[in-house]
Amino acid sequence: MADIVIGSGPAGVSVAQALLARGREVVMLDGGKVLEDAARARRDAIAATAPEDWTDAARDAWQAPQFDTPDGQVRRYGSDFAMEPGVTTLSDPDGFALRASRAVGGLSNLWGAAVLPYRTADLAGWPVTAEALAPHYRAVAGFMPVAGRADDLEALLPAFPMEGRRPLPPSPQAEVLLARLDAARAALAGMGVHAGAGRQAVDAECRQCGQCLHGCPWGHIWSAARTVAELRARTGFTHRPGPPAQGFAETAEGVEVTLEDGTRLAGTRLFIAAGVLETARLLLASHPGGAGRLRLRESGYFFLPALHRWRAKRRPDAPPFTTLPQAFVEIDDPSVSPHLVHAQLYTWNAFYPRDLVASYGAKLPGSAPLWRALARRLIVAQVFLHSDHYAAVDVTLAPDGRLAATVAADPGTALVANAATARLGRALGHAGLSTLGFARRPGAPGSSFHVGGSVPMASDPAPGQADRLGRPQGLGRVHLVDASVLPSIPATTITFSVMANAHRIGTEAP
Ligand SMILES: Cc1cc2nc3c(=O)[nH]c(=O)nc-3n(C[C@H](O)[C@H](O)[C@H](O)COP(=O)(O)OP(=O)(O)OC[C@H]3O[C@@H](n4cnc5c(N)ncnc54)[C@H](O)[C@@H]3O)c2cc1C
Ligand code: SF4
Repeated sequence: MADIVIGSGPAGVSVAQALLARGREVVMLDGGKVLEDAARARRDAIAATAPEDWTDAARDAWQAPQFDTPDGQVRRYGSDFAMEPGVTTLSDPDGFALRASRAVGGLSNLWGAAVLPYRTADLAGWPVTAEALAPHYRAVAGFMPVAGRADDLEALLPAFPMEGRRPLPPSPQAEVLLARLDAARAALAGMGVHAGAGRQAVDAECRQCGQCLHGCPWGHIWSAARTVAELRARTGFTHRPGPPAQGFAETAEGVEVTLEDGTRLAGTRLFIAAGVLETARLLLASHPGGAGRLRLRESGYFFLPALHRWRAKRRPDAPPFTTLPQAFVEIDDPSVSPHLVHAQLYTWNAFYPRDLVASYGAKLPGSAPLWRALARRLIVAQVFLHSDHYAAVDVTLAPDGRLAATVAADPGTALVANAATARLGRALGHAGLSTLGFARRPGAPGSSFHVGGSVPMASDPAPGQADRLGRPQGLGRVHLVDASVLPSIPATTITFSVMANAHRIGTEAP
């Protein structure tokens, strides 16, 4: 019998890689959704022409469906295949923006590709250290590209050394910004702030076309779907896309998974990587010994816009450039937070002028050119906080089989967000940016997608917790391997660590 993995997103492919490396057989299930034929044809058509030869009309037509995305949805390639609408998973999705995926490759079909490891100081209460994850970060980087360079971030986050890695070329604005941050590093260090180049899960072959937020025409932003395609060629691996799993049970010999069409599959062990919401649903539906209520934790965030004061030598909106995060800035000061506060800085992208004109242009007729010019000076920081400073969300199984979610806000969020805003304002001021604190915008609960912690791993698990191999108390052959088992959610991007932890469980599981 094979091991069964539910989910083909970043966590699913990581545990599968580890199991296959041990010579085990793996059957991988997922929801089976892929990019529709029409969207695929649009993507292939734009990819057939070199970016230098795109006409304005062709580029505008390619971008239009993404600009039309409904609120709360994230769209790439003009398609919603990779993100389920809230109502398919949640009985009342208002007020909670986390969404599930039933796609091959999961949410990594549309993610932002920012990658950083965790550091042990931010893992209080974990039964695992960042040092224990280190070999697994390296193993993950064996099948997922990590672009970036060795800089001041390395000393702060040593679990994944950057030696030998290549950065993507910075955007025109980022080139200036990174040089200024570097020149100000002593002043920044004096205020507990450390900066470096962004690190992204992107191929070195990136063509600098600036379409990252619309869907990479050539697939240079890593998605787990790419790794699934590679695994399909491996002996011992079977991919069974759709129908989705409905529940599971442990049997005398192993495990049994029931699919939505009633099919039953037997396996030796079960590794659940269905994404935090679907994993919670499967667990609540299948393991009546559980508490019946799971508490999710989130590394919440806010957007902090800034304008650069320097005079640009190159237009920021003329390729070559990427629109992924260009610089990472970390605040390491207990007077702001006992944990790292992580900011990722985004330079010009085509959404900036559109959003500014839409928000302010109507109030001042004829002012659109002004907003477009201002957009060319805009740099936006997305600032993440450790989950200790953010809302918790309780989920239970609704009578119709979906999840009912209740958000409990954390009154301490504002204090930490204010301290982080002030510190970033001072630090980025040294690099020629004026932050606009009055325009700060908080993310809605769930919208960071840096969410987990529903069945936290513990050295000595109590009811509602899991052991260090992700097994919920009372289960012996079922391992949760996605963010559900992270005991807390540090600020420094979630997916790389979810993958390393899934790889670790796949390596250590009996
Ligand atoms: C817009 C956006 C930007 C993001 N940017 C970043 C970023 O820059 N950096 C970062 O670290 N993280 C980012 N994230 C978060 C990142 O996408 C997730 O952390 C990551 O995808 C989680 O991986 P996963 O494998 O646990 O789950 P998912 O990616 O959600 O995959 C779930 C898998 O399970 C399958 N599945 C679901 N239900 C079932 C079922 N019932 N039966 C069978 N299969 C099922 C799905 O088909 C899928 O294959 C971003 C997310 C979004 C939405
Ligand atoms: S800039 Fe973005 S969209 Fe263009 S090739 Fe590079 S990763 Fe792909």
